[in-house]
Amino acid sequence: MPIDLLPSVEHFLSRRQRLLIGGQWVDSVSGETFDTLNPATGQPLCAVASGQAEDVDRAVQAARAAFPAWAALMPAERERLLRRYAELLERHKEELAQLETLDNGKPYQVAYNVEVNVAIGQMYYYAGLPTKLKGETYAVSSPGYHVYTRREPLGVCAAITPWNYSLVMAVQKIGPALASGNTLILKPAEQTPLTAIRLAELALEADLPPGVFNLVTGYGETAGAALTRHSEVDKVAFTGSTEVGKAIMQAAAGNLKRISLELGGKSPLIIFDDAELELATEAALWAIFANSGQNCVAGSRLYVQSGAYEAVIARLAQRATELRVGPGMEANTQIGPLISQQQLERVLAYVHSAEGRIVVGGERWGSVGYFVKPTIIGELSDTSRAAVEEIFGPVLSVFRFDTEDEVLARANASRFGLAAGVWTTHLGRAHRTAAALKAGVVWINTYDWFDPAVPFGGMKESGYGRELGTQVMDMYTELKSVWVKIE
Ligand code: ADP
Repeated sequence: MPIDLLPSVEHFLSRRQRLLIGGQWVDSVSGETFDTLNPATGQPLCAVASGQAEDVDRAVQAARAAFPAWAALMPAERERLLRRYAELLERHKEELAQLETLDNGKPYQVAYNVEVNVAIGQMYYYAGLPTKLKGETYAVSSPGYHVYTRREPLGVCAAITPWNYSLVMAVQKIGPALASGNTLILKPAEQTPLTAIRLAELALEADLPPGVFNLVTGYGETAGAALTRHSEVDKVAFTGSTEVGKAIMQAAAGNLKRISLELGGKSPLIIFDDAELELATEAALWAIFANSGQNCVAGSRLYVQSGAYEAVIARLAQRATELRVGPGMEANTQIGPLISQQQLERVLAYVHSAEGRIVVGGERWGSVGYFVKPTIIGELSDTSRAAVEEIFGPVLSVFRFDTEDEVLARANASRFGLAAGVWTTHLGRAHRTAAALKAGVVWINTYDWFDPAVPFGGMKESGYGRELGTQVMDMYTELKSVWVKIE
């Protein structure tokens, strides 16, 4: 059954969407726009301003002008404004979820219960942080000195976000940037700008001062690249592909911008013979197929110990074929479309060239929109492309293993190091493997859990720095040491 569109969503889609610069909604200087598409149908949803270098420059000037007053605002006042912002997100929950489903394709229930809920939880968490910023005093070995540190905001931050969790990824950067007294320019992914635009509208409604939160929609190579090159941008917070992350690191060298990068993954999920197999199998299913596999922490490499292999793969195959694929705005859909035609072709190319055995799926679902059936590939070599590269689609590679040492070596033999999962009932093995896996997060007997209080980020080519938790404030502030001669 289709879910009815809210009148507010219909109204939103009927407008041409613009840029928010210094508290004003403006067209791009060039007047150019692009269409954002509904991936369930391939049809345009609405036209959006295509920001370019001159728009980025205007946004940076606005953010720079707003910075001193925002940084000087009493922390309690920043908290009050950010809490009001979080309340507004909460009040517009259904609308945000519908926009996300239309633009990204994910099932409405997932958009509502996961994406929007997580984003709101994060905004409340960050709203509480301005009054928790603190420095330290030091016991220096020079007589007559009082030495302390201060945490100071960086200045103008750019947030460049991906399309897979558009709302959460934006809030994950807006929250700490603003809480620590920086001003911000958000550049959402060109595939999913709609919730970012709504976030910007609600920021104005929450009375955030003009220029504190600016929005430049546009393409990565134009708007995104201009932000990463700009000499008056002090920090870039990026979530996206490892390739673009590397380009951002290079562009940031110009004025030595601070950067935080949350990048790709090829995360291993390991099931030992002694695991609770039914729970482990269900977890492995959702670890890869949630969000149609378009998940940086997707458990895309499944290692099953020999004694459990046949049972796990048979059950997984059965469950994968039971999953309900369809448009996100259909009430009972579990698996939505991929984001674009390009992504559909990319994912199918991996599947068609895979050397292993396609256990289930391996083809397009339907003829309209960008759907791919949940796909499982077995009997792959560890070095084949589908086993090594991030596919970012509903494609699981399954491997058999015999010993703990062997599986740890194989799991760690990746250029990525974002996440890992282990299923075992052996307590010692759980902790041993958690310590041995080279990943920024390890889930034991669970998968894909997040909390605003828990730091998240990648090792190796999966990233640089950590988001979430109070630690994230280190990524948005400078530490200043002050020496005072007191005698
Ligand atoms: P994906 O491959 O999953 O689309 P990308 O890493 O290309 O992910 O995109 C993530 C974000 O980075 C998007 O907002 C995109 O517009 C932006 N982007 C892409 N290329 C660049 C670039 N060269 N410089 C800055 N931002 C970019």
